[in-house]
Amino acid sequence: MARRPKPVPQMTIGQFEATFTDEEACRAYLIARRWPEGVKCPRCENPKVYSLKSGFHWQCEACAPDGYRFSHLAGTIFENTNKPLREWFRVVHCMLTSKKGVSALEIQRVMGFGSYRTAWSMCHKIRTALIEPQTKLGGIVEVDETFIGGKAINKHHKRGGWGGGYVGKTPIIGAVQRKGNVITRVLDRVTKQAAQEFVREAVSDKVSLLATDESRVYGGLTEYPHASVHHAAGKYVIGAVHTNTIEGFWSIFKRGIVGSFHKVSRKYMALYVAEFQFRYNNRENADIFGTAIQGV
Ligand SMILES: [Zn+2]
Repeated sequence: MARRPKPVPQMTIGQFEATFTDEEACRAYLIARRWPEGVKCPRCENPKVYSLKSGFHWQCEACAPDGYRFSHLAGTIFENTNKPLREWFRVVHCMLTSKKGVSALEIQRVMGFGSYRTAWSMCHKIRTALIEPQTKLGGIVEVDETFIGGKAINKHHKRGGWGGGYVGKTPIIGAVQRKGNVITRVLDRVTKQAAQEFVREAVSDKVSLLATDESRVYGGLTEYPHASVHHAAGKYVIGAVHTNTIEGFWSIFKRGIVGSFHKVSRKYMALYVAEFQFRYNNRENADIFGTAIQGV
């Protein structure tokens, strides 16, 4: 039913190895991506910084009386970690090339990390770097909501024994421009107010069509050329009016959640969906890796 986004060839493992031969190559790559117009102070953006003899360190004299010293890692997700950049880059590459996402357990295994926590925290830090600035969607836009999770679970109690638990479903709303980008938001509840606030923030009112299903939460978006299909009545497509594209995105996300992450708590849902959103929005970007590194 739903069309999958067109995949684009990404860096293969061979190309990765050839590009990132050692730690120094990774540092040079990070610096070039982070500061394409030359090194700037991460605190005050001053471009007149002095490089220090130690190599990947600079000093800014504009924002501190005695000079502020910083490295290429200052202010990035790689700061204060004991993992070499090359390992970080491998994890980023792994996350970007796996369509359904890759679990922290899998990362721990393939990277040979001693602790699950390390892998888990690296993956989450990378996800924060994949959160993109949003620009309003135009053209033909579909909006729809979905619910993730909600299976009964067993909680293991400290004193032994198993107690039943129930994780409520987490609602996510999304808008997708056909042949364009997707924007998502995790909601507390799907209310008319929350849905319409999202639409007004994510979708330009100059669109040629806003397509939704018959849900009442979309009633009253009168500034939009809004049309809906009646899913409950078995009507899925009326000419250009359908929500197949956004449903395609939900199905990729759900396959990932079910296949790679099993359970995702509400707390981290926004980070997981940001990862899938980034891959989707960069599906035709052959330099998706460089784009991700720019965001660190
Ligand atoms: Zn400065």
